[in-house]
This record gives sequence, structure tokens and C-alpha cells, in this order.
Amino acid sequence: MEPDPPDAAMIRSQVTALAEHFQRSGIHTLPQPNEQSVAKIKNWLETTHSPLVEGIAATDDHQHHAQKSQLDTARSSNASNHKDSRTDSSKLNPLPVPPPSSRQAPTPSRLRTVDAVQTDTGPYPGPDLPDEQRKIQLDGLAASVAGCTKCSVLSGCRNTTVFGEGHVRPRVVFFGEAPGAEEDRLGRPFMGKAGQLLTKMIEACKFSREDVYILNTVKCRPPNNRNPELDERQNCRSFYQSQFSILRPDYIVCLGAVSAHELLQTKLSVGRLRGKLHKFHQSKVLVTYHPAYLLREPNVKKAAWQDLQIMLRDAKIQI
Ligand code: SF4
Repeated sequence: MEPDPPDAAMIRSQVTALAEHFQRSGIHTLPQPNEQSVAKIKNWLETTHSPLVEGIAATDDHQHHAQKSQLDTARSSNASNHKDSRTDSSKLNPLPVPPPSSRQAPTPSRLRTVDAVQTDTGPYPGPDLPDEQRKIQLDGLAASVAGCTKCSVLSGCRNTTVFGEGHVRPRVVFFGEAPGAEEDRLGRPFMGKAGQLLTKMIEACKFSREDVYILNTVKCRPPNNRNPELDERQNCRSFYQSQFSILRPDYIVCLGAVSAHELLQTKLSVGRLRGKLHKFHQSKVLVTYHPAYLLREPNVKKAAWQDLQIMLRDAKIQI
């Protein structure tokens, strides 16, 4: 049975919320919230896929469809009464322009996301090894990494390789970008300030560092902490792929764009990839911000925590 359509007061209240949203986004001239304007705004939203509309769809699908039905009716009525669909400037309602300092910068949570990305479908290659065998395989792989010189620049300036560490049967693997100075010195991943924040994130998920596994896309520190080059990522790809094939985690958390691009073979931004679970073989993949970025932009921590909660809900982990 079709749900009852929303009344005009509800539509007006939603349009007022939209007006405030547009104002924050830098749009300072808006039509009055009458039925004709509502239909125009709705049409514009549908063609630009606003996150607000996606949010409505995600949280209240019935309400969204009921609203769409009423707005479609209003649109067809307007179409017959108003052949020119452009906004009449005489009816525009100028909104006060906030001073630049008080305008909200676009936050990551406002960016629209994309459909789930699925790479390397199917199960991980090879057998699911018992824990003891997993450790032996990982130790052998770490020895290969330690002697690797495939990247002349990186192998020439590293102090030590940073293979990764953690539980041999982890439920969650955290996948970072590359070692930094502290990691290069100690041979362990995520040991600096960003590492301390990652530890807090892990503990917020009710795990310890020993419960999870932590690794990077490349095992040697790029000079001056630059991003690893594409050929360096390609050179190191077989190492992390082998690690994942041994570990077979339920979840992989990509920390930042480099690891997300590498694992999911996409160039989409973190802002577009976050908010849903992607897939790599049989592991579900969550994309969120790198702890180093969260240290620079503390206001984004809330968004990162929302991302982790997606995984926790899916894993039915109570926090
Ligand atoms: Fe080898 Fe990886 Fe280091 Fe390159 S980054 S030298 S592939 S271990």
C-alpha cells in the first residue's frame, strides 16, 4: 500500500532546511518555498544527486517516495501552468551573506559517495592455513621483503623495511600508506603520533593492536615522506597481496587515499569512497581518513568514527 503523501507543512519545513543547507554551501539567493519552487529545487537535486536527498533516501525511503510522488504531481501541474521553468527573479528571496570567516568549509561528510567497489572477486587464492602455518608463511615473506631492492630509490635510503605486524588470524586489518621516519627507524608500522591515534581508533573499536594486523602499501619509507610513486606501489603489490591471502581478514580498513586507490584500483577520493563497504576477495573494505590527516584536521575525526561504526555495526560489535 502506498504511504500517505506528506503535507505542505512538511514540504515547507524540508525546503527551509534545504535553504539553510544551500546557504551554508555558498548559494545566497533562493526562491520562496512555495510548491512551484519546491518542485524546481527537487528537480535540481535529482539531477545533481545531493547528499541530502541520498540521506533522505537512506533513512526514510517511504517518506522519500511519498514526497517524490507529491512533488511529481506538483511538477506536472506547474509544467502545464508555467511553460518557462526558469526561476522568476522578481520572486527571489535574497538571503544574508555570512562573512567569510563564519562560512562553513565543505566537510567530508557532505561529499557524495559512490557504489561499492569490488576488486579481485572470489575467494583468496590458496588454502586457508592454520595459525602456525600462517606465521611461518608471514615470516618467510618478511625475510623476502627485508632483502628486496626492487625500488632503487626506496631501498637505497631506507634504514629498515616495515613489513607489518599483528595477529595471524585478525578480524580486521588496517592498511596504511607507507612507513614514516619513526617506523623506518623501528621497523614497525604506525609508531609515531599518527600511530598513537590509530591505536586509539583501534581501541575505540574494542580491539587492541595485538588483535588486529597493521601493514602498509609499500614496505620502505619514501624520502621526505612523499607519497609512494605508482611504480613503487606496483613493485610492492605482490607483498601486501600475499599478506592478505594469508591473513584473510573479515574487514580491511584503508587509511587514506593511497591504500584505498591501491587496493580498490580506483582514483576516487576518500570522501567519495567512504560511507559503505567495498570488497576485496572475501574481505569487506572500509575506506576512511589517514590518522596523519586526522591530526591535521581534527574536525574530521567525527567522520572517521562514523566510518568505523559502519564496520562495527556490520560486524555486530557492541561499543
Ligand atoms: Fe621492495 Fe617494496 Fe621496498 Fe620497493 S618498497 S624496495 S618493492 S620492499
